Amino acid sequence: MNSNVENRIHENFPKYIDALKQLVRIPSISFDNFDQKFVMDSAEAVKAMFAKAGYTNIQFLLPPSGRPTVYAESLTSPDKPTILLYAHHDVQPPMREALWNSAPFEPETRGDRLYGRGTADDKAGIITHIAAAQQVRELLGDKGPNLKFIIEGEEESGSAGFAEILEKHAELLKCDAVIVADLGNFAKGVPSITTTLRGMSAVNVTLRSTKAPLHSGSWSGPLPDPAQALCRMIASLADADGKILIPNFEDGLVPPTAEELASYRSLGYSEKTFRCESGVLDKVSLTVPEGEILESLWRRPSIVVTTMEVGSRTNAGNVLQDCAYARIGIRLAPGMNADACAEKLEKFLRDQTPNGLEISIDIEDGANPFVTDIAHPFFKKMSEAMKEAYKTEPKFIGCGASIPGAELFRKTFGDIPILLTGLEDPECAAHGENESLYLPDFEAGIIAETLFFMSLAD
Ligand SMILES: [Zn+2]
Repeated sequence: MNSNVENRIHENFPKYIDALKQLVRIPSISFDNFDQKFVMDSAEAVKAMFAKAGYTNIQFLLPPSGRPTVYAESLTSPDKPTILLYAHHDVQPPMREALWNSAPFEPETRGDRLYGRGTADDKAGIITHIAAAQQVRELLGDKGPNLKFIIEGEEESGSAGFAEILEKHAELLKCDAVIVADLGNFAKGVPSITTTLRGMSAVNVTLRSTKAPLHSGSWSGPLPDPAQALCRMIASLADADGKILIPNFEDGLVPPTAEELASYRSLGYSEKTFRCESGVLDKVSLTVPEGEILESLWRRPSIVVTTMEVGSRTNAGNVLQDCAYARIGIRLAPGMNADACAEKLEKFLRDQTPNGLEISIDIEDGANPFVTDIAHPFFKKMSEAMKEAYKTEPKFIGCGASIPGAELFRKTFGDIPILLTGLEDPECAAHGENESLYLPDFEAGIIAETLFFMSLAD
């Protein structure tokens, strides 16, 4: 039976690549300063694919932004389990277009990878769901599981309306498990299920000392410099090794179990690989020893200044600036709470403000960390399906990034299994230039999901 599945998917694979290319050609960037017509076009294209596959109840679920989430279903029988299949059809901007070796929205195959914005993140996820669903329907008919699709339209711009969509349509979306195909494999050819995600938040800080910029010769000395003041405040957030110094910041943090640590070690991730994948400069030392790199990425909080602004480089002159600005991002480990951490960061910055400078702080919407319990039998079934498809043992891994949807599914549906899979890999450059998808894993991913659906028929 399994080789039959493999053969069928192998025969249809060129068709699946074509469908993926069709979606990649639509620049569906969900950021406000890009033309939102394309997000609508990609929603329509996904809708047309569902219609062509013969799915029912196809509709747009609209958040306040108007960027449609596309819904469809393929129902078999009320006695069969219902799986909700998540992916997103919006993409990141292309960043620096000059650095792309081929046009970002004109997919191009080079070697065993398909290049183009959205190939890996996350349009391959959409096609994986559609292809696997179609296969299981042809193979099992009404004996297969019930499948519901939810393809979001604003994940990259922060999923601002997703909580509302889930709440409003909770009955329509009701399910026994969710597959979120928006993560990735630990390495090429290494199938992976992600079990933890870090949470995130960010604050925007503006520090002001005078009403306007001043001649630095005539005025500096008696007046404090907002740029240096802000730098001192930022420097007080963490020590040189990144250890966060805000009191009680790590409250609630759930450290990895001995079993989880052993599974991280079993991945054999070396400092050399990490240095190579991150592009860190040769002489720069890491803040943790080799054996703690994955734990640091997946299970500890971090703090990063994502932007700083004082005056501008083009107008750099002898000026005492009136204000300084920074955006400070935090990543939170499982167990920590995004709102509570952002508030602690805000209070700490206010307490550190020197010389009575005027400080204003704006907290962005955050996302809580996510952790899933792999004891549910669906994890075993998915892991066996992956082993069959990839011909190697799957890995349970963590992820340093955040997917707000994962925690929202938990909130909406309670303690059901949420399987985080996907087709990114360390070379895929998601969010960067020259994003690409490793095609052998695309095929194996479709086989794995098909075998997983088939395992639910028993
Ligand atoms: Zn994504």
